[in-house]
Amino acid sequence: MLFNKLQEEKIKDFETPFYYYDLDLLHETLSRAKRAADQRNFHVHYALKANFNDRLLSEIQRQGFGADCVSGNEVQKAIDTGFPASQITFAGVGKSDKEIRMALAHGIFTFNVESIQEMEVINELAVEAGVIAHVSLRINPNVDAHTHHYITTGLDENKFGVPTSELEQAAAVIRKSANVELMGLHFHVGSQITDMNVFKSLCVKVNEWKNWFEERGTTIRILNVGGGLGVDYQQPDANPIPDFEAYFDVFDKFLERTPQQEVHFELGRALIAQCGSLVSKVLYTKSGVKKHFLVLDAGMTELMRPALYQAYHQIERVGEDQQSKLNYDVVGPICESSDCFGKEVPLPESKRGDLIAIRTAGAYGEVMASRYNLRDEIRYVYNSDL
Ligand SMILES: *Cc1c(COP(=O)(O)O)cnc(C)c1O
Repeated sequence: MLFNKLQEEKIKDFETPFYYYDLDLLHETLSRAKRAADQRNFHVHYALKANFNDRLLSEIQRQGFGADCVSGNEVQKAIDTGFPASQITFAGVGKSDKEIRMALAHGIFTFNVESIQEMEVINELAVEAGVIAHVSLRINPNVDAHTHHYITTGLDENKFGVPTSELEQAAAVIRKSANVELMGLHFHVGSQITDMNVFKSLCVKVNEWKNWFEERGTTIRILNVGGGLGVDYQQPDANPIPDFEAYFDVFDKFLERTPQQEVHFELGRALIAQCGSLVSKVLYTKSGVKKHFLVLDAGMTELMRPALYQAYHQIERVGEDQQSKLNYDVVGPICESSDCFGKEVPLPESKRGDLIAIRTAGAYGEVMASRYNLRDEIRYVYNSDL
C-alpha cells in the first residue's frame, strides 16, 4: 500500500490526476546506489531522460551523481541544476549541430558517439570552436537484453551505436581527427534488465572490444557500461530498492580493468522508478455483461508506458483493502483504444470518486506526458506535502 491512514485522508485534498513522489524513498535509493558504487570505485551518471523533475533532479545532484543527457536541452538542464560540466555526458543517435556546439561550449566531460559520420561532425565543430572534444565510442555489442523488443538497444539490427564491423574504420577516423580525443568505450544494451546474466555477457563483450583497441595501441581510460538495471514492477512494496550490490558485483567480478581505467554507469529507471506513482480518481464505473470498467481521470497522456509498450504497472485502490475483489479493466479518458492501464485487474469494488494509485511510475512517466486532447499540465504532490 502506498499511503498510511493519515496520508490517505490528506491526499484527498489534492486535485487529480497527479504524480506523487516519495522523496524519502528517493533519498534512500540514491544513498544505497552511491554507497555500493563508491565501494567499488565506480562512477554513476543519472540518465535524465527517465525523469527531469526539478526537485528529484536536485536531490540526485546533491548526492554526487553525474548526468547522462540525450539532448541539448537536457545538457542545459543538468548545468542549470548544478551538475558540473566535468560530470556530464551527452549521448544519442541524432545530435544536431546546434546541440553539439552548445555542449562543446560548456566543456562537457564526453560525447558518446554513435556513428562514424557523427565523429567527423564533432571533429569539424570542435575545430571551429577551437577546442578538443572528448568522446567515447558507442559500440553495438550484439547482446540480447531479453527485455521487450522496443527497449532492447544492443542488437545488430538496432539503430544505436557503431556496429562492430565498422570499428576498424571508426578507429582510423578517430586517429586522423585532430580535435577529437578518444576517452573510452560506451555500451548500453537495453532497459528493465533483471537477469544479471545479461550484464555478465556484456562484460565479456566489453573485455573483448577493450582488448581489440589496446592491441591496436589505443589507450582506453573509460569503460562506460550504460544503464538498464530493472526494477520490480510486480511488487513495488516488497522490493522498493533494486539490489545495487548484486548489480555492481557482476561488473566488479567480470570486467577486466587496470587501476587507471574508470568504470562508468548510466542508470535511470533503477534510481527513480519506485519513488513515483500516478494518483487518479475514478470518474465512472461501467459494467457490461462480463466486464467491469473503471474510467479514470488519468490516461496515456499522463502515463504512456502501458499504451506504448504494454508495460505492466501495479494498480491499487487507495484506502481499505477488501477480501472480495472484482476484475476491472482500468482505462483512461483519451480517445484511443490503447488508453488502458490494465485488463482484468483485481481490485476492491470501487465507486465514483475513489482514488487509484498506479505504482512504479517514477521513470519514463511524467517525462513522456503529452498535451494530446489538450489535457492539463502535469500536477505533483510530494510526500513532504502530506
Ligand atoms: C536510456 C538510456 C540509459 C538509461 O536507461 P535505464 O534503463 O533507465 O537505466 C542509459 N544510457 C543510455 C545510452 C540510454 O539511452
